[in-house]
Amino acid sequence: MSVYVTGHKNPDTDSVTAAIAYAALLKAQGEDAIPAMQGEMNPETVTVLERFGVSAPEIMTDATGKTIALVDHSDLNQAPDNLDANNVVAIIDHHKIGDVTTNNPIFCCVKPVGCTGTVLKQLYDISGVSIDGKVAGLMLSAILSDTVNFKSPTCTDEDKKAVAELKEIAGVSDTDELFMDMLKAKSSVDGVPAKDLLNRDYKDFDMNGNKVGCGQLELATLEQVADIRDDLLNAMKEQKAAGGHHTILLMLTDVVKEGTDLLVLSDDPSIIEGAFGAKMDGDSMWVPGMMSRKKQVVPNLQKAFGC
Ligand code: MG
Ligand code: MG
Ligand code: MG
Repeated sequence: MSVYVTGHKNPDTDSVTAAIAYAALLKAQGEDAIPAMQGEMNPETVTVLERFGVSAPEIMTDATGKTIALVDHSDLNQAPDNLDANNVVAIIDHHKIGDVTTNNPIFCCVKPVGCTGTVLKQLYDISGVSIDGKVAGLMLSAILSDTVNFKSPTCTDEDKKAVAELKEIAGVSDTDELFMDMLKAKSSVDGVPAKDLLNRDYKDFDMNGNKVGCGQLELATLEQVADIRDDLLNAMKEQKAAGGHHTILLMLTDVVKEGTDLLVLSDDPSIIEGAFGAKMDGDSMWVPGMMSRKKQVVPNLQKAFGC
């Protein structure tokens, strides 16, 4: 039986490349594995796969009857539909443990590092399997993406070590150039509908019974979205009305200035102000140093919502 390896819904570069890299590791170990993803790739991921000459995984959104390995998540609401606790055989991740349960012992490797690519690099090393140059390029790109070129507070020394080793294998001399190439693709907003921008990197969370959505756009400069702020707010309003959310946030993260202009649409904005120790200015607040949804936004929201 083939193992389908998949990342989370709204796939990002780590989710897609980790599926490819872990499937390749399983294959090298004699297992039949198929890399998959739960939707179309974002522009950054398209750029990365083109650059290293790797074809896209197949799209798989329904786990019915399939054996599944999860990468880059372990939350049911981010996993494929109809996931059966009997059929999950592995989890490789770098987030807090989610709510996926299993009926059997499984292979599980979750580490507090900046990227699933870093965990996978270590698994390759432990397994004594050499990494294909193209796959190394993908893993390298994922680490640069998830750690925002080492600037994110999620970045660890283990991530830096993995990058140093992967760039040799991939034959990449300048990782800053690779990162800027990815950032250009990722932050391009020209002609993209506001609704798609909101959902480009978006996750819903349950906060003590409140539905809270949070999207993030990583930008080279806030100027890129200056003309479309109202469109983004309207897209948030529509999504909030349709989804019954308590709060929808959109992080407009200036990767160069290292801070986030946080668009806030909430039934109780004072909770959000309290969470980040900042004051609303119209529909948004500037939060210096805010780069990471996982490490900064989610934990502070959980505290503020009394989780
Ligand atoms: Mg991810
Ligand atoms: Mg990741
Ligand atoms: Mg991410």
